[in-house]
Amino acid sequence: MVPQTSPKSNYLAHQHDIDAAIRRVLESGFYILGEELARFEQDFARYVTVKECVGVANGTDAIELALRGCGVGIGDLVFTVSHTAVGTAVGVERTGATPVFVDVDPQRYTMSPESLEQAITAVKRNPSAAPGKPRAVLVVHLYGCPADLDAIGAIARRHDLLLIEDCAQAHGALHNGRRTGSIGAAAAFSFYPTKNLGAIGDGGAVTTNDPGVAQRVRMLREYGWRERYISDITGVNSRLDPLQAGILGAKLPHLDADIGRRQQVARQYDQALAASDLTLPRVPKSVSHVYHQYVVRCSERDGFREHLKQQGIGTLIHYPAPVHEQPAYRDRLMQVVPLGRTEQIAREVLSLPMYPELTDEQVTATMQAVLTWPALQPAGR
Ligand SMILES: *Cc1c(COP(=O)(O)O)cnc(C)c1O
Repeated sequence: MVPQTSPKSNYLAHQHDIDAAIRRVLESGFYILGEELARFEQDFARYVTVKECVGVANGTDAIELALRGCGVGIGDLVFTVSHTAVGTAVGVERTGATPVFVDVDPQRYTMSPESLEQAITAVKRNPSAAPGKPRAVLVVHLYGCPADLDAIGAIARRHDLLLIEDCAQAHGALHNGRRTGSIGAAAAFSFYPTKNLGAIGDGGAVTTNDPGVAQRVRMLREYGWRERYISDITGVNSRLDPLQAGILGAKLPHLDADIGRRQQVARQYDQALAASDLTLPRVPKSVSHVYHQYVVRCSERDGFREHLKQQGIGTLIHYPAPVHEQPAYRDRLMQVVPLGRTEQIAREVLSLPMYPELTDEQVTATMQAVLTWPALQPAGR
């Protein structure tokens, strides 16, 4: 049996340090904010190479607070993708802004710069198509592959839009040698247990180089307080708790090694599956992909998935329905550009087993199971 992911294996790999951190927090007597959180925030800021990190309750809140911290809110339009975790859209809507969906690039599966340009032009030309003021571009570095930040950043600058990064799947990824999470005006991270850096429960963070943005996010995460019990602005309650901060601090020194193992597994998959007619991840030279997921595309995805299941290989679909096709959103959100690639990709993607503790035997078993799917082998071979 090869599970698709295994947060428990990551706990066991670092059990000694994690248990020590938990005990330290329990014995400290401080269970909200405090030194433990401050230390993790500093360590994570250093890792991402930014000045500021603010721990919040989860990745969805991180998106909301990163946007609000940059001044995005009611009446604003935020250009983002529909091929993502629904939390991306939830975080945008929680600010009072409206998400405007942009199609994805066929190679990276992240935001298409051409589609972004088209969407901005469409709402500027016809404001009734999407009532609101274009304010921000929220890119998602999906699966651990940085979006095309050069092209998207240039478009954002030209149209005077903020660039915000959803880094929930991209801890440690590099764009032209720079860490994702350090490039936009602010970035949102999730520490959901299966993410590349995962808590044992929920967690999230906002990173930024702008001390003003960081200060606003610090206020927003605690009722808008500047001074205790006095709300200067309307905030929320969304703090990363010290237990999770301690656990994350224990895991952070191992993150690069964990990413290294993910990349090694990805290379093995790449080599073994190159001969199959699956579409494998195609990674531009300018980026370092951290393989939160190793995603293949297959036109007969559901049959392929069933075959792997029979062979004891766990898989998941990220994500089976784009946000704009889900019941809560489909009749409500505006669509200003075609989302054909998004819709096609959702029918074809499959995430193979991927986590740092996968053994060589498990990787081999996965590759063998993939290659024994009859439909992958051209007739007569
Ligand atoms: C996981 C995830 C989120 C939401 O994070 P939570 O911590 O689960 O709230 C948002 N965006 C993306 C791309 C994600 O993968």
